[in-house]
Amino acid sequence: MTALEERPTQSAAVFSPTFDAQTDPLDVIRWALQTHPDLTMPSAFNLNGVVLLDLAGRAGYTGEVVFVDTGYHFPETLTTRDNLATRYPQMTFVTLNAGATPEDGQTDASLYSTDPDACCAVRKVAPLQAYLRQRAPSALLNARSRDQASTRADIPFVEEGTRRKINPLAFWTREQLEAYAAAHALPVNPLYADGFLSVGCWPCTRAVKPGEDARAGRWAGKGKTECGLWAGDGKL
Ligand code: SF4
Repeated sequence: MTALEERPTQSAAVFSPTFDAQTDPLDVIRWALQTHPDLTMPSAFNLNGVVLLDLAGRAGYTGEVVFVDTGYHFPETLTTRDNLATRYPQMTFVTLNAGATPEDGQTDASLYSTDPDACCAVRKVAPLQAYLRQRAPSALLNARSRDQASTRADIPFVEEGTRRKINPLAFWTREQLEAYAAAHALPVNPLYADGFLSVGCWPCTRAVKPGEDARAGRWAGKGKTECGLWAGDGKL
């Protein structure tokens, strides 16, 4: 049986591919496109996301790239999004919550400091959940990888749940991602070079210190490690 053949799991209607840690992410994406033609890709345009976008383009992905504008993104992140939209015209870049600002009344403008879970729930998770309920894709293409954080150390290529998540970069290291981005001159968020190895909203992101996980700068000191899109009760 090859890596791309499928075998039945719990039910006749559910199939899981026989990938292993050495499987090329491109093969995972090609399988995903065959299996889920309505595949959708949420992205925050971090290093992982930029690499995944490029690989997806090479594999023939022409679907949507969905970004949630919380109103608190760094200008560099919005510029990165625009650069990517120009580079990959075959994909449709969708910005949800567009026009959100800290003063728009959507939340208390400083809710991020008093209740970051509630802030993420309203500004990030809710807009994407609503969009996905409307579009109802059968699977999501996601850029998380195991070495981003100890909390992501078990991410599989194919993750079942409310929606199937396909994680082609699950086994790639940061060094592999950086090497790929450099080899293909990808427009990585310039904050990355300043130590922002994972870039979220400006009130909740700091540069990473030597030896820290790539995501250690997210919600540092707030007892929070995920925005709620990929972990927790309301995860996608
Ligand atoms: S990362 Fe911070 S500012 Fe952004 S939505 Fe979450 S709590 Fe709010």
